[in-house]
Amino acid sequence: MSDKYRKKIHSEEIIATFQDVLILPGFTNFAPQDVDISSNLGKYHLNLPIMSSAMDTVTEEVMAINMALHGGLGVLHRNCSYERQLEMCRIVKRARSFVIDDEHVATINPNAKVAKAKFMMENYNISGIVVVNEDKKVCGIFTKRDIPFLEQDIQNGAIKDYMTMDVISIKPGASREEARKILYESRKEKLPIIDKDGFLKGLITKKDLAPEFPFASKDEEGHLLCGLALSPRFPESSESQKLLKEIDKYVDIFFIDVADFYKKDDIIGTTKLMKLLESDFVLGNIGTYQAAEYLITKSDFVEDRFIGLKVGMGSGSICTTSIQTGVGAPTLFATAQVADAIQDYNSKLSLIADGGFIKPGDLPKAFAAGADLIMSGHFFAGTEESPGFIDTIAGRKVKVYRGMGSKEARTSGYISDRYIEGSKMLTEGVSNYVPYVGDVAGVLATLKEGLANGMIYAGARSIQDMKEVSLGIVSIVGQRETQPHDLIGKF
Ligand code: 5GP
Repeated sequence: MSDKYRKKIHSEEIIATFQDVLILPGFTNFAPQDVDISSNLGKYHLNLPIMSSAMDTVTEEVMAINMALHGGLGVLHRNCSYERQLEMCRIVKRARSFVIDDEHVATINPNAKVAKAKFMMENYNISGIVVVNEDKKVCGIFTKRDIPFLEQDIQNGAIKDYMTMDVISIKPGASREEARKILYESRKEKLPIIDKDGFLKGLITKKDLAPEFPFASKDEEGHLLCGLALSPRFPESSESQKLLKEIDKYVDIFFIDVADFYKKDDIIGTTKLMKLLESDFVLGNIGTYQAAEYLITKSDFVEDRFIGLKVGMGSGSICTTSIQTGVGAPTLFATAQVADAIQDYNSKLSLIADGGFIKPGDLPKAFAAGADLIMSGHFFAGTEESPGFIDTIAGRKVKVYRGMGSKEARTSGYISDRYIEGSKMLTEGVSNYVPYVGDVAGVLATLKEGLANGMIYAGARSIQDMKEVSLGIVSIVGQRETQPHDLIGKF
């Protein structure tokens, strides 16, 4: 007697999602302040295991900068031209670095009038200017303190007569610590970076050195980490390849961004992209053990730059893939499936659970199912830092949040290959308003606390420990009981 079809429905493999499960409490043998929520994405260590989605109403440069400053990562979307992607990546990479690149340092000629320097300082809100001669070599520094007292000297005096010629500087490539030491010992505010031939290479200021965001996600040079979504389609034109290589200089991690990555053509395209580019790659999305097994064991990706898998299909709050096509792998289910494959075949790969998070308490559940990091659009679309305007509906502040498979997003022309190529009529996402929720720092603070407190209840001190805690399916009645209930008001 065949049970092939009956087993498909009654298999042991229940497709469970966040609301179906709870983490069982565990023994806690550490103090609350000892909880460590940091995690790894390949070689990158993130102090906050949270990422914002590569969507055009979630992550552009402002969100990416803020996510990285708070220790997470914002993945820049791909619903735009390579030129615009390049611009976003440049802005992220140059933001908040403790070094100001030479092309952005204010300079002045020694023969210029003091009045010009005064004007620059007042209008650019800077306190000092590096003085460089016609050959672009540094010959002095002029600060607010060097401005003469008399108005006639300001108007007629030349910079060279008032500047400090003995410039305290630092060589290119010096560390943050070296810079801090020199600035402290010399009691200066600004430290020009000068190469051995006397040319200006940049500037370090005391203000930029202060660790205002001590947990920021940074590369080895102190610049913010930059993640960018990419189509798996290999661009055939040499012009596009050139642009991609330029983008590659600013990106640390490319995120191959399609609804379903378990496809031959996408795998072939990505293999070629990995050969063209030098940065690391996260691949996705996938939803099953078999897909992960195939990608890890039967594909030809550049091994040391394939650093992670992103999982979850059809769970997004703006997503209609499961409704439209009947196919899906909810994020919790997909996480557990892929985590097992990673354990079996390549434990170095990081796992990102993507989409479907509704409550802060869903985050700890994803880690318990084997995730290293989580990604959300839902939590961040309504923040100050997401792209788009704040609107008002019935007195409430709102912002637009749209699925990348929505009609609105797909008609832009850049993102049609995120779904089934050639399919024009079937949308796989919706566009709607979400409540405005203030700045991203506030949202992250709530998520962080939910995660840390969940880990304390579960008895897990780190994200790795969290992977060992137990999850259990909650009955329908249990689900009702674990929400506020039997109150007069509606919750
Ligand atoms: P959310 O945080 O809203 O629950 O889910 C966000 C995730 O949904 C994104 O990171 C992305 O993986 C996925 N996504 C974004 N737009 C769409 C869409 O239009 N359709 C589908 N199927 N998934 C989407």
